Amino acid sequence: MKTKSATSAKVNGARNGHTVSPKARKMLINGQWVAALSGETFETFDPATGEVICKIAAGDKADIDLAVKAARAAFETGPWRRLTASERGRMIWKLADLLEKNLEEFARLESLDNGKPLGVARAADVPLAVDLFRYMAGWTTKIHGRTFPISVPYAPGALFHAYTQREPVGVVGQIIPWNFPLLMAAWKLGPALAAGCTVVLKPAEQTPLSALRLGELIQEAGFPEGVVNIVTGLGETAGAALAGHPGVDKIAFTGSTEVGKIIVRAAANDLKKVSLELGGKSPNIILEDADLETAIPGAASAIFFNHGQCCCAGSRLYVHKKHFNKVVEGVAAAAAKIKVGPGHLPDTEMGPLVSEEQLNRVMGFLQSGQAEGAKSMAGGGRHGDRGYFVQPTVLVNTKPGMKVLEEEIFGPVVCAVPFTDANDVLAAANNNIYGLAAAVWTRDVSKAHRLASQLRAGTVWVNCYNIFDAALPFGGYKQSGWGREMGEEALQLYTETKAVCVRL
Ligand code: ADP
Repeated sequence: MKTKSATSAKVNGARNGHTVSPKARKMLINGQWVAALSGETFETFDPATGEVICKIAAGDKADIDLAVKAARAAFETGPWRRLTASERGRMIWKLADLLEKNLEEFARLESLDNGKPLGVARAADVPLAVDLFRYMAGWTTKIHGRTFPISVPYAPGALFHAYTQREPVGVVGQIIPWNFPLLMAAWKLGPALAAGCTVVLKPAEQTPLSALRLGELIQEAGFPEGVVNIVTGLGETAGAALAGHPGVDKIAFTGSTEVGKIIVRAAANDLKKVSLELGGKSPNIILEDADLETAIPGAASAIFFNHGQCCCAGSRLYVHKKHFNKVVEGVAAAAAKIKVGPGHLPDTEMGPLVSEEQLNRVMGFLQSGQAEGAKSMAGGGRHGDRGYFVQPTVLVNTKPGMKVLEEEIFGPVVCAVPFTDANDVLAAANNNIYGLAAAVWTRDVSKAHRLASQLRAGTVWVNCYNIFDAALPFGGYKQSGWGREMGEEALQLYTETKAVCVRL
């Protein structure tokens, strides 16, 4: 199938060389670019200025219903089911190639809509999405069952041939956040398509542009109509309708723990399968024997990467007391040096937060920290008075029970806490409702592995942070979620295992 939009044109409000396809403001349902049935739209903003970029279709329950029906038809009767695993793999690989070919355009869209530095989108967001699709393309031909020698006590002498086969779970609803808009779409779509599912994807209302453009590439790659449907809209309307739709077999969600719980309740009605990648308050532990030359910049980038808008941000920094002052000074100096500015400027190292709501949320945390006695060693406030910028902030004097130390801030704010005893720091690190990621900085391989096994987190980095690979599963313990994305594990989320038993 040919893409429906070969040309890109400037839309009102697009600037800085960014272009948005006119079709991109519509939604992809059953292979067609359509407006919301209600005719309603919402606006997406440039977070560096607060200005409107363009209008986006505000899909709601009725549009979700159409999209789910399209996905169902594509799953049950469409050509998608008849493709071989190898053909499916080639299509996903082609999507990766197209994405790579359009890397610069996607990096610009991502930077415009989300606010992140263009260089980061170029170096991380888009290439990681390309890799993810390629990795998952390789899995299509390797999803298989096993055979079993079975011994049935009440069927003496009988012979059986028993085996399992892995089948796609069906129609999948995928609801994604705004912090890595394209990459989160890839994490969701890649394994679902590899498994043979069909999808209704709902991007975050703050950042719909890259997912819509990806929809055009999905068509260009040749995916049959209805296999991937992209419905834009608000969480409480489109998102809620998707999570509660009886025609959806599985919901995959990435976002806040609060909304994750709403999704679980909505999905409980008809017991949809659910996977969740939720919040975090990840401990980053610098032991007495750490190499501070790498640990200090590592601790700074653990929290300041993507403006702290990472579910796995290293937001609780535990430092052995011998090095506490040096590390805090080093991280504070790194924070003060970060060039904060609009994402499209070449020297920008940190862009704005994604939205006014997010700015207010982070400012609320900073005020609560200050009111409860925390001290800022760097930053501590808003940066400028236009757009949604926050200063990279390092807090000390935080105590257990304080909101800034317990709750996810999702902004560039780290709480540094000294410790003396390795057991105490382990208990403190694990004493949180979340368990997404953790890190340890040490030269002692034995301490590294001991802590890695004792930390209650889905990922533990040693002497590094924020290292991601399509092959490495990612997900959370405790209230950080259910299931693992990426890696072979992600295929578990999108397949059912069927046992077949044949009497010979
Ligand atoms: P954040 O609080 O960081 O903005 P959210 O968890 O609210 O993150 O949003 C993540 C995704 O969940 C977005 O696509 C959003 O539209 C969606 N969402 C928000 N509220 C709901 C809801 N009640 N039901 C389903 N999806 C929702």
